[in-house]
Amino acid sequence: METRSDKREASLLRSLPSIDRLLQTEAVQLLLATYPHDLVVEGLRGSLDSAREGIRHGEDPPSPPALVADARGRIGAAIQPTLRPVINATGVILHTNLGRAPLSDATIAAMEAVARGYSSLEYDLDAGGRGSRHEHVAALLRRTTGAEAGLVVNNNASGILLALAALATGKEVVISRGQLVEIGGGFRIPDVLRQSGAKLVEVGTTNRTYGEDYAAAIGDETALLLRVHASNFRVLGFTHSASIEDLVHLAKSRGLRVVDDLGSGSLLPTEEYGLAHEPMVQESVRVGADVVAFSGDKLLGGPQSGILVGRADVIERLRRHPLTRAVRPDKATLAGLRATLLHYVEGAAEREVPVWRMIATPTVDLDRRARSIVEALGSPNLDAVHTESAVGGGSTPGETLPSRAVAISSTGEGAQALATRLRRWSMPIIARVADDRVLLDLRTVSPSEDGEIVSALRTTCVV
Ligand SMILES: *Cc1c(COP(=O)(O)O)cnc(C)c1O
Repeated sequence: METRSDKREASLLRSLPSIDRLLQTEAVQLLLATYPHDLVVEGLRGSLDSAREGIRHGEDPPSPPALVADARGRIGAAIQPTLRPVINATGVILHTNLGRAPLSDATIAAMEAVARGYSSLEYDLDAGGRGSRHEHVAALLRRTTGAEAGLVVNNNASGILLALAALATGKEVVISRGQLVEIGGGFRIPDVLRQSGAKLVEVGTTNRTYGEDYAAAIGDETALLLRVHASNFRVLGFTHSASIEDLVHLAKSRGLRVVDDLGSGSLLPTEEYGLAHEPMVQESVRVGADVVAFSGDKLLGGPQSGILVGRADVIERLRRHPLTRAVRPDKATLAGLRATLLHYVEGAAEREVPVWRMIATPTVDLDRRARSIVEALGSPNLDAVHTESAVGGGSTPGETLPSRAVAISSTGEGAQALATRLRRWSMPIIARVADDRVLLDLRTVSPSEDGEIVSALRTTCVV
């Protein structure tokens, strides 16, 4: 039997305007001047669906202007990009989820210049004919790393895959059990080896592997020795691993190759910045590794890319492999990488490359900025506090740099709720939560973003 409330509900549902009628209104005509018809109809349909749902739960129907305002919000949300700039206040400098290395001004300018129009990507301007995209950074890679040759691919993962496929398909690759690691995002060394068509030969134990272990495993089918930097964990205590020198020495005596996956790979000495020594590309090149692989967007501080440097004949073999075509970098990457490498050649990396600028920023500077943000807001909930930043991105695992943060103590709603609100700010701010406080670590925040932080804190009802 139909009750009175059923009747009321049916009549309220009937009172909602149709999409056609809403399309005639002036407010929707204005929306149609900006947005495509389909998107507007989709927004209106969403608003009407939600209004019907509300009526069924006993709510009053929204007015037509309220329906249109709701539709406008839905349209806005539908075209809002999901990939957006954010403020990284986590203190993790190379944050993979937040896009790793921010780029230098010169790098951005170089990428923009080639993105805007045509370029000499594969065109030899002297000869007036076909050139190679691999030439643009080759000289700078030789100069910065000391290697005979270099090759750029999409990322380090594809670089390792290419090196193994070109040098060891159908053959054996010897690697320490302590280096069969997962880098993150499901990139596991044993899986990559299998994909390359190489056969994995494990030697040693999780914590100790000696040169003799490699020597004993070498046979007729062995093609190369692979070293993988333990970039995101530390094994402490009773440990030993064969040095890259040991591996190169052994490989030479047996006619094999050595591939060294440095992960981050640094061109500058991290120990001069109060961190543990991160393996440097130049060191592996100097001792004679055939291929040294590292990322362009970790400690190098450039655009996403994978860099392979080493002996000229070996790099040439990689360059000719069919996989190289599948993992080749685009013009913007090459232009940007060149500009980033130039900072190193000019001795200006610490000043120009944002990753190094952040690592090198003295805590007194961070302290001054933290205090000035706290003073600008004048709230008892805010405090300038000591904290620890991390390099991240598979470099210097377990190491921290002293830093300063703006700490926001719980404002009743709880620290997680406040962190969520900061994340939903028009310029999303990604913070850290510790001891029921929100921490904004300024080491990874550009000084030009301090004003945005003040505005966000003022409006997210902190003060
Ligand atoms: C990060 C890392 C990789 C993967 O590099 P991408 O540039 O992210 O593809 C591979 N090996 C090691 C040791 C790493 O640290």
